Amino acid sequence: MKIAEIRTHLLHHRLDQPFQSAFSTFTDRWACLVEIVCDDGTTGWGECLGPAGPNAATVQAMAPLILGHDPLLIEPIWTRIYNQFRDQGQRGLAVTAQSGIDIALWDIAGKHFGVPVHALAGGAYRDSVPAYATGGFRQPGRDRIDALEEEMARHVADGFGAAKIKIGYGHAIDLLAIRAARDVLGPERRLMVDANHGYDAIEAIRLGRAAADYDLDWFEEPVVPEQLAAYREVRAGQPIPVAGGETWQGRAAHAEAIAARAIDILQPDVAACGGITEMRKIAAMAETTGIRLVPHVWGTGITVAASLQMLAILPPVPQRHAASDPWLEFDRTDNPFRMAILEQPITCRDGRVTIPQGPGLGIEIDRAALAEWSVPG
Ligand SMILES: [Mg+2]
Repeated sequence: MKIAEIRTHLLHHRLDQPFQSAFSTFTDRWACLVEIVCDDGTTGWGECLGPAGPNAATVQAMAPLILGHDPLLIEPIWTRIYNQFRDQGQRGLAVTAQSGIDIALWDIAGKHFGVPVHALAGGAYRDSVPAYATGGFRQPGRDRIDALEEEMARHVADGFGAAKIKIGYGHAIDLLAIRAARDVLGPERRLMVDANHGYDAIEAIRLGRAAADYDLDWFEEPVVPEQLAAYREVRAGQPIPVAGGETWQGRAAHAEAIAARAIDILQPDVAACGGITEMRKIAAMAETTGIRLVPHVWGTGITVAASLQMLAILPPVPQRHAASDPWLEFDRTDNPFRMAILEQPITCRDGRVTIPQGPGLGIEIDRAALAEWSVPG
């Protein structure tokens, strides 16, 4: 079996209601999907986190390195691409693009052997995981608290046991938002906050102290990701566990954050950190050093499926009776093509998501839906 073709697909949807993180305004949804076709007809799918057009261009720049090669040589291919792009790569687009290729290769390998990725990787610890609803963005033109309460009530009605909201819009409104979310969720459901690095360390520490009584599971990306010392200050200066990692692409970046004890909870994204190959190594480092791992997930059903395959193989830490399962981040924001591109959408029932058991990622792509949302590269 040889790699015959590498296709990239750009998906686009213009949002009716834009939404904002601490620093970004989302007016559109984009995705960059990677389709690798082999000479025997086997096809694998991957996805890259981040700007879709530049990711697609970077994937195509990598294509000559692997065309004509055996797709089952996943590790050697990973090393070859990384090494060729290392001088200008290591983080950012080079690694996000490589992630999409790597996920597609694992999908091909699973289909070739007729088993799910988690079986190829040594076997699953679990067949379902709890999911937390991610959202809680600010919606321009809508009252922050009204919109948030409405959204949290929807998560409760949908059966979620946990939700994450965005902060980083200002101390006072963030505290009101946290209180409103906690009130709607009640005392039992879990609540997390994500500042998308919208604070400096002084502001983050003040916010974390003020929010200490709301029983938050974690405080995500309190400060900009390259400031590991600031992360440490936030960890030391306030009581909420600190999470981060969605922008630390590659093993080396995660190793630095782990060595610095910058975070309590590590959040690599399979579509950004270097794919399944690299995420397994990051997960091993986290397990070795006693840092909890909760993958970041933001993308289509392809990324969700790849994340579920990873979640299947994460060892229970610590080993004990009734050990905790790792969480799946389940994006609830507006994105009509997220699950539409799958023949069988991945759904959350009673707060849990089943890990796909079909070959590879365990999903099939709906070509008609793909065509509906595709735009020229
Ligand atoms: Mg985040």
